[in-house]
Amino acid sequence: MDEASRARLRALPSVDALLTRPAGAALGERFGRPAAAAALRAALEEARAALRSGEPLTPTEAQIGARALARLEARERPGLRAVYNLTGVILHTNLGRAQLAEAAVEAAVEAMREAVALEFDLETGRRGEREDHARALLRELAGAQGATIVNNNAAAVLLALNTLADGREAIVSRGELIEIGGAFRMPDIMARAGARLVEVGTTNRTHLRDYRAALSERTGVILKVHPSNYRVEGFVAEAGARELAELAREAGVPLMNDLGSGALIDLSRYGVRKEPTVREAVEAGADIIAFSGDKLLGGPQAGVLVGRRDLIEKIERNPMKRAMRVDKIRLAALAATLRLYADPDRLALRLPALRFIARPLQEIAALARRIEPALAATLGPAFLVEAVACRSEIGSGALPLDAIASAGLAIRPREGGGALDRLSAALRGLPRPVIGRIEDGALILDLRCLEDEEGFLANFARLRESAPDAP
Ligand SMILES: *Cc1c(COP(=O)(O)O)cnc(C)c1O
Repeated sequence: MDEASRARLRALPSVDALLTRPAGAALGERFGRPAAAAALRAALEEARAALRSGEPLTPTEAQIGARALARLEARERPGLRAVYNLTGVILHTNLGRAQLAEAAVEAAVEAMREAVALEFDLETGRRGEREDHARALLRELAGAQGATIVNNNAAAVLLALNTLADGREAIVSRGELIEIGGAFRMPDIMARAGARLVEVGTTNRTHLRDYRAALSERTGVILKVHPSNYRVEGFVAEAGARELAELAREAGVPLMNDLGSGALIDLSRYGVRKEPTVREAVEAGADIIAFSGDKLLGGPQAGVLVGRRDLIEKIERNPMKRAMRVDKIRLAALAATLRLYADPDRLALRLPALRFIARPLQEIAALARRIEPALAATLGPAFLVEAVACRSEIGSGALPLDAIASAGLAIRPREGGGALDRLSAALRGLPRPVIGRIEDGALILDLRCLEDEEGFLANFARLRESAPDAP
């Protein structure tokens, strides 16, 4: 290192000195002294490294302060950041599934902020049941005798299987031994529940007689599983819920139905194909039905079991139940969500999951046409922006093969060379990240779930400051 470089290094101020100057003091005031000192130290370290490798200019105090500020702000940014979900998947597991209704958000906030009558009966002044609020609503909506709530549907299935079939056999069709994302594999869950898996039928065809032949005094449960993320088509057969229930009743064995998404209402009123509802599964004679809280139901993460009173009581006495219980925040949000179902005509206005499903195509297409010029202007001549027709899906295991006609924007780079990947990365780097999907050489932004048009445009305009290919 030459003398000039050494002189430049010596010219750098110390952390303590910086903390007494305006820029450093402001950092201490805002973030606390230890955090400010650590950030300034890191910024100085960076400056030293740059000078050692030949950087000709010593940074000013203001520049070091700005670098420290950037570090501190990056650290303050929440890990769970709000994003624009323009993937076209409405209930996207990686983006948090259902967005909650305002009523549910308010109920959750109140439960967080205040003391609440969680396990306290306000009528008698005695200890109450923590799930009572949501439980009554669930029983009513499902038309079931009993209901219980746990952490998620995976837990609900594990708990129910363990209660009904620990040390016994569970009969399942080979066509329903599903794997859904996140390491939920039906055979593994069964093993952990202590149930011995008895597979019946074949991948594409399982008949009632296959179940009948597998029944024995060792049978603990017959399990039916909604094949959430795939469909077998062609030469297929499955035993219907009703005939299976009859067989189970004859044999004196409970029938459990893992519905997965678990619609509480008929979706055909929103223009998509009907999924079997929870109420129908109860009416068809299943003894225990399991479903998720944050899929089609549109609430917080939860797993719900509804069904025969005696079996629900048995499930609640299982010590595992205590290890899977939900907190007051989610119970409040779930009950508030369920209350919205009392007014089906306004449900699609209030519940985001259903609002997105029911959103009219013309409205989405008009939005695409409206914002197209602003996006094109921000992106400049390097990209072609076009309002296009596209297809959304519900996601989270509901109607896996049914696409919903939607509209959005297709962004194509006029030249290749990785411009599309760089653009996707730049969109993820926005103050509120924008998540689309890449398809046939274009970045598709499906606008079905975009409601905050103004906020989106203001956010998108920030791309000009950061995008490598934007002007
Ligand atoms: C989604 C799903 C589950 C798991 O539910 P989580 O709420 O994600 O735990 C279990 N079974 C089926 C059939 C599903 O579709």
